[in-house]
Amino acid sequence: MKKVVKFGGSSLANAEQFKKVGAIIRAEESRRYVVPSAPGKRFSGDTKVTDMLYACYETAVSGKDFSDQLVQIHERYQEIIDGLNLSFSLDKDFEKIHEDFANRAGADYAASRGEFLNGKIMAAYLAFDFIDAAEVVRFNDDGSFNAEETNRLLADRLKDKPNAVIPGFYGAKENGDVVTFSRGGSDITGSLVALAVRADLYENWTDVSGFLIADPRIVKKPKSIETITYKELRELSYMGASVLHEDAIFPVRKAGIPINIRNTNRPEDSGTLIVESTCRQPKYTITGIAGTDGFVAVTVEKAMMNSEVGFCRKVLQIFEDNGVSIEHMPSGIDTMSILVNKDAFEEKEQKILAEINDTVHPDHVELDSGLALIAVVGRGMKSTRGTAGRIFSALAHAHINVKMIDQGSSELNIIIGVRHEDFKDAIRALYEIFVLTQI
Ligand code: ASP
Repeated sequence: MKKVVKFGGSSLANAEQFKKVGAIIRAEESRRYVVPSAPGKRFSGDTKVTDMLYACYETAVSGKDFSDQLVQIHERYQEIIDGLNLSFSLDKDFEKIHEDFANRAGADYAASRGEFLNGKIMAAYLAFDFIDAAEVVRFNDDGSFNAEETNRLLADRLKDKPNAVIPGFYGAKENGDVVTFSRGGSDITGSLVALAVRADLYENWTDVSGFLIADPRIVKKPKSIETITYKELRELSYMGASVLHEDAIFPVRKAGIPINIRNTNRPEDSGTLIVESTCRQPKYTITGIAGTDGFVAVTVEKAMMNSEVGFCRKVLQIFEDNGVSIEHMPSGIDTMSILVNKDAFEEKEQKILAEINDTVHPDHVELDSGLALIAVVGRGMKSTRGTAGRIFSALAHAHINVKMIDQGSSELNIIIGVRHEDFKDAIRALYEIFVLTQI
């Protein structure tokens, strides 16, 4: 059994958290390859080291004195080193970073030092080898990620190593210039390492016990999801549920390596297992509920629309030409509604409306803003009668008017549009009917 374990910033925010991480890694010999993030927030209102680094580098670029800011970052690491009783110093590294910042080594380089330094501490603490991600995670000259070369470099470097620490979030071009992934990108590094060593499991340790059935800011103490498929996860993430960086899925999914989301503060919880497919039926009919607020429905109405060849295409083309992405498109015989993100649409609103009028000469165009979309997702819905019925009766009982319904033919999700004011109540009503009152 071979596992890759990635630890997020909150799992490594201070020495106390490092000790929990050490205990987790030592508990199983199979936890051989470790991917750390930079130290995150120690308490609410604290600043992540990555953000401190970006700010410090900005000061350096503006030509002001950044020494104090860098000292504060050094102190964050020193606190961890002291708390772990390590006889280990980052003084030389900080001298080099000071020099590199003064020479404007780049914002990506600056941010990457968070993971680089944390990786060094982690390797010293565990007595594992340290591998600088700049040597094994490759970016092309144009800044795009080079998956093939990375896989080759990582596999080659790790093939004879029983253990290693590989910092997350960054890599480098062939000339050595450091490049980072987007924020939260250590998840991607973990996935790349798991693919390269053909791990049996990629454990992603964070501060929640996996994915929850609903947003805890809306539903009180929601239950967590035991097993979820990649497809279900995609539906839920698209609708706002976020625990894992989206790009972390592709490398392991392709190789059939499951991801296990675990909680560093509650290692006894089994967390959520993400798999390609499973015969395990979820405990409830649904796997999860997620939603996003802030949509506009643009409803175009024209008598005999359905017999006018190319009508829909012409309308959609207008949105495409204006760079506005379409989220959903429910239609009737003489109407089509285009659901778009309000912020994206607002900027182009007048232009798009004028173009619709000019191009397809509709009888009427109506705008309905303040719309929220809720996705009820679950592989269990396919084999269960009455799911839609239960959704609508739950919403009716909660006095919520359904503005739109969209069920994909995969029967993996049902999307419901409700008014912004009803958004939270609708999610609570759905959670209640499917989770709390389910026998
Ligand atoms: N430290 C980086 C961030 O704050 C990357 C990561 O944590 O995954 O975004």
